[in-house]
Amino acid sequence: MIIAIDGPSASGKSTTAKGVAERLDIIHLDTGAMYRAATYGIIESGIDLNDLQSIHEFLKNMVLKFDSFNHIWINGKDVSKKIRTNKISSSVSAVSAVPAVRFKMVETQRSIAKGKDCVLEGRDIGTVVFPNADFKFFLIADILVRAKRRLKDLEKIGEERTLNDLINDIKKRDVSDSSRDVSPLVQAEDAIAINTSNLTINEQVEKIVQIINK
Ligand code: C5P
Repeated sequence: MIIAIDGPSASGKSTTAKGVAERLDIIHLDTGAMYRAATYGIIESGIDLNDLQSIHEFLKNMVLKFDSFNHIWINGKDVSKKIRTNKISSSVSAVSAVPAVRFKMVETQRSIAKGKDCVLEGRDIGTVVFPNADFKFFLIADILVRAKRRLKDLEKIGEERTLNDLINDIKKRDVSDSSRDVSPLVQAEDAIAINTSNLTINEQVEKIVQIINK
């Protein structure tokens, strides 16, 4: 069984996908973390984000590893926390718009989930990675709610930002993710939309689990 949960940043995908995976006792794959880890690796290697040739070379040797607790390693380095910083958030859309990056990630995501029961969260799961997914959800939330969630996440890792900055960052990322040429962020025609603005995490998870159990 493949469950696709797509939506823009801070719409509640990660917490919901994690909760659904726990409730159904199946695998959870955070595909955003994969794009973030690649972005971290590319920046750490001193590669200019416009240097497509070097990005292609980087991808050839890139080794991504995960565990079932949402830890992620790139080329042997644990980057689980480092990928959540603002520096990575502000560069990840540029990296994830590179067709070669997407090709490699989609291939990896399909091979991880193949033959397993899995909840995948991202931007293009229901449209590109698994267009025949058994269940597709598209999460949305008001911009202010999303920015407040991001603010809390960043506080946890000791980064100080203002709410206004985050509103602008999120809007920028929405535009980049939705307007790129290759697999842009878009709701699949057969996805069920859920607005999480006024829902608790439990309510979000429960809504999805109920639909699946039905
Ligand atoms: O979900 P998260 O905010 O961690 O995703 C980080 C970025 O990774 C997104 O803004 C988007 O540019 C990219 N992404 C993507 N396709 C996915 C998941 C994430 O392009 N399936």
